[in-house]
Amino acid sequence: MTDFRPTSPYPMITVEEAWQRVADALAPLPPERVAIGQAVGLVLAEDVIAGVNMPPFPASAMDGYAVIASDTAPARAVVGEQSAGLDRFLRVEPGTAARIMTGAPLPDGADAIVPVERTREENGRVVIDGPVSPGDHVRPIGQDLKAGEPILTRGDVLGAAEIGLLATVGHTHVAVHPRPIVAVIATGDELVPPDQTPAPGQIRDSNSDALLAAVALAGASPLHLGRVGDDRDALRQALLDGVARANVVMTSGGVSMGTRDLIKPLLEELGTVRFGRLSAKPGKPMTFATVRGIPCFGLPGFPVSSLVMFELFVRPALRLLAGHQRLMRPEVQVRLAHAVRHEPDRTEFQRATISLREGEYWAEPTGVQVSGRLKSLVGANVLLRLPAGRGAFSAGERVAAMVIDEQHPGLLAVAGSVSRQS
Ligand code: AMP
Ligand code: MG
Repeated sequence: MTDFRPTSPYPMITVEEAWQRVADALAPLPPERVAIGQAVGLVLAEDVIAGVNMPPFPASAMDGYAVIASDTAPARAVVGEQSAGLDRFLRVEPGTAARIMTGAPLPDGADAIVPVERTREENGRVVIDGPVSPGDHVRPIGQDLKAGEPILTRGDVLGAAEIGLLATVGHTHVAVHPRPIVAVIATGDELVPPDQTPAPGQIRDSNSDALLAAVALAGASPLHLGRVGDDRDALRQALLDGVARANVVMTSGGVSMGTRDLIKPLLEELGTVRFGRLSAKPGKPMTFATVRGIPCFGLPGFPVSSLVMFELFVRPALRLLAGHQRLMRPEVQVRLAHAVRHEPDRTEFQRATISLREGEYWAEPTGVQVSGRLKSLVGANVLLRLPAGRGAFSAGERVAAMVIDEQHPGLLAVAGSVSRQS
């Protein structure tokens, strides 16, 4: 039998205090070496020094002729052609020139390149227009990178340019913090898979797919552990399975005050619950525990609540584990397009769309804000942070907003118009 507890034993803590407890329980995952092709978006766990010069030889920056700048010959005998990829060991002397292609090594004796557009070649001789200075269009050894120079630093996020640099110096494997593996477990006797027609009293499980998607978008690796009914033994088994196989375990549902809400007591049994109630709307029953060193997030079951709690706690936690320095979404000050009411006892995170008008962001809530209405998150680009202590905000007032979609067209709109050139 489960015991029914009419009042929660967990103190209600603020979002800030709760995040502090999450952060205190986590550390970046130990570095692993991966091939650079697998490293995009990951955080470097070592400093990288260039082992070679780039370019490794003096190279032509243009297609043209390699010459001696001080040579005054009116026409120069062409001694051969130097293309990229193979050093032909040509030699340029006064009165001569070598045809040369971009990226090819500068022949011995030459000290400048004349672009082909400024030349005329006839009968094996080339005539040059205009003055030539030593070094023209020559990329000296080490112009781009010098051997011994630091090129990347621990903590750098590996984007396209960083990965290109690693390839340039032959650093084909790098130490990075791995992508956290996140086990996703949906709980509830009422849930059926999305491809089934629910019987009376049942609903389709949307949290599994939504949370798996959120994990992937956060740059982590989702591990789908399926749906589990409100059964103590089955839930215990699923939690232990998650703890054994993942770096993070995430459940949805079963954290409220009902008799079938078994996640909190199970986490107490298996590990340490670090908070079990939050002064936030949505998200009041939000739970965080550690089991055998693995962080476990007990997200509330309502679809909006679970995704908002993912944004507030799980996403920054995954970034911390992955070694990122910037954990939180950017926050901006916005003005309310309409008056807004909310429950003053908790910080409320309302879904809204902001757009730029006359240099300021204006926020429109996305309709009815109940926690079951997933549509309130569709098209939202911010979560408005309405602080506790006040129940009403008037039109035009400024509040903080967490930007959850940095690519949203509203963020770029100028005077209400978005240019859509393609
Ligand atoms: P709970 O937190 O278990 O009390 O669930 C709160 C509400 O969220 C209930 O109406 C559930 O039916 C609903 N819910 C729980 N889990 C899911 C899920 N995986 N997908 C969609 N709705 C859910
Ligand atoms: Mg439930």
